[in-house]
Amino acid sequence: MRSITTLQIQYAHRFYGFKGEAQYLHGHTGTLTIEVEDTINKGVNMVFPCNEIQKIAWDVLKNFDHALILREDDPLLPAILKVYEKEGIRNGTPTNTMKGPAMETTLIRTYPECRLVVTKETMTVEGMIKIVYDLLKNSLNIAKITFTSGVNAATADFMTAGTMDRCPFCGVRLDENGVCHKCGYRK
Ligand SMILES: [Zn+2]
Ligand SMILES: [Zn+2]
Repeated sequence: MRSITTLQIQYAHRFYGFKGEAQYLHGHTGTLTIEVEDTINKGVNMVFPCNEIQKIAWDVLKNFDHALILREDDPLLPAILKVYEKEGIRNGTPTNTMKGPAMETTLIRTYPECRLVVTKETMTVEGMIKIVYDLLKNSLNIAKITFTSGVNAATADFMTAGTMDRCPFCGVRLDENGVCHKCGYRK
């Protein structure tokens, strides 16, 4: 069975080198749906608590919210950094509090201090699905990710590997020592 959660991400981007309106900088509210597959955890009669899926996902995805997402070879990138530098906001401001961890993977590099995400590939809805799966595949048994943004939408199915040990009282994943971080239950 699957537990399904949805979250929204507001971002600006453009398709650098694309022939069409999207080559200009513009913004979206994107809707991301994550489907987690596992057995039903008998203790709580759930696959996985949806608010916990949201928390795990938001922890890394808040870097993408109210962010500018640009491809690494986009000439806007150095231009924007120059302006941020000049304004004294390149290295953050006290009001920029919704910061995730700085991350670097084969697909992205995040600059949470100035709400910028630099991508290897153009950030289409398909590109976002690849990025999200890569960031969350080790934390959640992801069976499907759907991302819609404006008129664009894409979906992808993934093979899940076995079952994860979850707490019989709150349903969250047990850590490597079999301990629930939420209620302290020990397997
Ligand atoms: Zn767009
Ligand atoms: Zn627990």
